[in-house]
Amino acid sequence: MQSKTKNTKTIRHLFQSGDPRTDFHWATPEQILAQSEPPKRLLSTSAKLDKCQSVGVLARVLYFTPGVFCPAATDGCRRACLAHTSGRMQFETHARVRDARTALYLEVTVLFIKRLKAEITLLETDALQVQMTPAVRLNGSSDLPWERLHLELFEQFPDVQFFDYTKLSHRVYRFMLHELPANYHLTFSVDAHMQKEASDILRRGGTVAAVFWPSLPNTWWGFPVIDGDLHDARFLDPSGVIVGLRAKGLARVDTNGFTIRHCKKCGPDGPELLLEFAKEDTHRTTVHRCPSCKNTVSARWKLTQPQKLHHQAA
Ligand code: SF4
Ligand SMILES: [Zn+2]
Repeated sequence: MQSKTKNTKTIRHLFQSGDPRTDFHWATPEQILAQSEPPKRLLSTSAKLDKCQSVGVLARVLYFTPGVFCPAATDGCRRACLAHTSGRMQFETHARVRDARTALYLEVTVLFIKRLKAEITLLETDALQVQMTPAVRLNGSSDLPWERLHLELFEQFPDVQFFDYTKLSHRVYRFMLHELPANYHLTFSVDAHMQKEASDILRRGGTVAAVFWPSLPNTWWGFPVIDGDLHDARFLDPSGVIVGLRAKGLARVDTNGFTIRHCKKCGPDGPELLLEFAKEDTHRTTVHRCPSCKNTVSARWKLTQPQKLHHQAA
């Protein structure tokens, strides 16, 4: 019989998910595990990860149920999180698999980590065959401190480059002070309201990711912006830059600061647009106006019922 090793010592609190399809709104991890098929794989690929091959990196990502391991998630990011609003990530079947992985990690951690190690070993072999650098993003839709929870992963796979985005500034400061494993790279993920923290990290040589729409500016907050959509191998980024990501899906109509809008008409360094109008019925519509040239930018996105504006998941 499989012995259960619950992760209650290290994971004391689960946070709210913005995924309208997750069973974590109403079921316990134990119930989810009992009703789920075991996940076939823990590590996945994505179109953006595949682009890493253009820079010699073979990368995989671990997707949990978005939000449940995200202590610093905001209303905006929870709702617009790409891990449940983009492409195939919206499929019911994908939500079931993310739930099953999350429940397996919480309920049978030892087995989960064994399986994870086996998949990383396989990735190393695959990468060797094609002469690429193996890379793993463990927090594809979470913000777990892997360096504290499972340090042995970094020690057991010294030739694997681990990398993540995080909203937890204390983790980024520890990374910049070289207090994290040498093969773990972190990028600070910010929204429109986090200029002060972001600037401090950028001045100290860290990198910061921000979501922009409808286009990327050349500079923001006085720092150069690079195109973060070309690939996802963040550990190759130069220090002191903002990694600009274009808003996808619901993020295009975000009004909670998750997405930053600059005025393209005022030039590549144009000012931030201000919200003029937002409406929500079957679609969400937003209109933003430039405070300088008065140009407006509008966006519209079809909503599924549970994603409506004032919906709060239980
Ligand atoms: S913190 Fe990141 S992964 Fe978590 S809900 Fe927000 S955007 Fe998604
Ligand atoms: Zn303008």
